[in-house]
Amino acid sequence: MARGLVIARTMKALDRAIGGYRSAGATLALAPTMGALHAGHLALVRRARRRANRVVVSIFVNPAQFAPTEDLSTYPRTFETDIAALRAEHVDLVWAPPGEVMYPGGFATNVNVKGPATVDLEDRFRPHFFGGVATVVAKLFMQCRPDFAMFGEKDYQQLKTVTRMAADLDLKLKVIGIPTVREKDGLALSSRNVYLSPAERAAAPTLYRTLRESAARIAAREPIARVMSEGWLAIEAAGFAVDYFEARHAETLRRVETVDDGPLRLLVAARLGMTRLIDNIAV
Ligand code: AMP
Repeated sequence: MARGLVIARTMKALDRAIGGYRSAGATLALAPTMGALHAGHLALVRRARRRANRVVVSIFVNPAQFAPTEDLSTYPRTFETDIAALRAEHVDLVWAPPGEVMYPGGFATNVNVKGPATVDLEDRFRPHFFGGVATVVAKLFMQCRPDFAMFGEKDYQQLKTVTRMAADLDLKLKVIGIPTVREKDGLALSSRNVYLSPAERAAAPTLYRTLRESAARIAAREPIARVMSEGWLAIEAAGFAVDYFEARHAETLRRVETVDDGPLRLLVAARLGMTRLIDNIAV
């Protein structure tokens, strides 16, 4: 029998739904999102659906991970179409708390993550970001008590940070990384792609093309420093301002000298006009 989608907006409604799944002995998978859902998010949902008996998707634009200068107020919000898409994927529960339910007055805790969260990549440009992510993800994990949590490889440093935090805090769940879903021309799907002008959208696939070409050259044992500096220039030539374009150890995200220090991952963040894009690839 079809169960239908439940939308919870209060802790009480959430507890009732999660408690029901638990007492029925169901396994639970959680896919945390900020809404404005696209096919990348739905890939998380589909893996969750295959992995567990019940699927919870959280939709919460987390103020704690935005700096005052960032796009919190303009971040795309498309709740009704998100719900329709999740219904079509047979999601059981959407957890969509208002800000004051997630962060009631007097809230005074921040989860301080290190390791992969402090390797001088995203953390250099968004110093508050992983603290905000870790705090809300820790709360989501406590609130929903999932057996599995789905995160995209698109946000690779975030995936490693959350995986580390879940292990360090003995949270009894498995974090599962989902490969990046892309447009036909290679651009990684992102809720922020709607910000791109037509000209920027046309330039954007350079990011992934450069990642792919650079990974192939490094795998063929060309010197990493040369490949990365030429890649940096190619990305700039397409009109981007590059924040970082680096080869790192795929697990620790520490710096590497040669391909033998691997497995390696190439990670990039670059701005096209007002829009900041990130992407990464395995070597
Ligand atoms: P967001 O709503 O942007 O916070 O993303 C929610 C989750 O979806 C995160 O785990 C992201 O890594 C993941 N995600 C975002 N874009 C993609 C994509 N193109 N492919 C796979 N996963 C993605």
